[in-house]
Amino acid sequence: MRLILMGPPGAGKGTQARLLAERYNIPQISTGDILRVAVRNKTPLGMKAKEYMDEGRLVPDDLVVDIVVDRIKKGDCHRGFILDGFPRNIAQAEALEKTLNGLKRGIDHVVDIGVQKKEIIRRLSYRRVCRGCEEGYHLIFAPPLNANVCDKCGGELYQRDDDREEVIEARLKVYEEATFPVLDFYRRNGLLRVIDGIGGIDQVAQKIIDVIEGRGDYNP
Ligand code: AMP
Repeated sequence: MRLILMGPPGAGKGTQARLLAERYNIPQISTGDILRVAVRNKTPLGMKAKEYMDEGRLVPDDLVVDIVVDRIKKGDCHRGFILDGFPRNIAQAEALEKTLNGLKRGIDHVVDIGVQKKEIIRRLSYRRVCRGCEEGYHLIFAPPLNANVCDKCGGELYQRDDDREEVIEARLKVYEEATFPVLDFYRRNGLLRVIDGIGGIDQVAQKIIDVIEGRGDYNP
């Protein structure tokens, strides 16, 4: 199963991708997570990506496309994968299509998790992420059992630099200008399904599972 999760920043793509990866036993490929690890480790990729990420802009396509192309050719993606945070513009969507065509594979589902702007800002400003395993928390709705400590791995929780209010606005603008057209791209080839991202984590997960398993009507 090859799945793409779309949606604005803060829609819950990462949280849902982690749950689905576990359920279907396929890898989650999050370009944001990969880039954050690269920045933290000060690798050549991380050094190039940092300034874009700090400003909420997209990292140049050649860097990101290479990451994804290399990743989906690995053996553990043979049974499928979940992309979260990619593609973020039309050029990336086309590059993905070309790579998959070359591998004689295709995308099975594209699920857009819809969330309103006001809710996004509320979610992102209270978001905390684990430095160890990238698990996400929300200080009010999904707090850790112990303050600042990850329930899963005991790692330290931190606020992403780009979850500050000034940067959130920039990310939303990028989403509207560059990423929104990608929804049309997948709508045109009949793959897009739209779900309401408001609700508990399990409720939203169930809607995505319904799409994947062919229940319910989530046509746009
Ligand atoms: P995310 O964790 O998906 O919100 O991504 C955090 C940041 O990483 C974004 O604001 C971008 O700067 C960068 N990034 C993640 N995925 C991509 C992508 N597909 N294309 C370009 N930049 C990306």
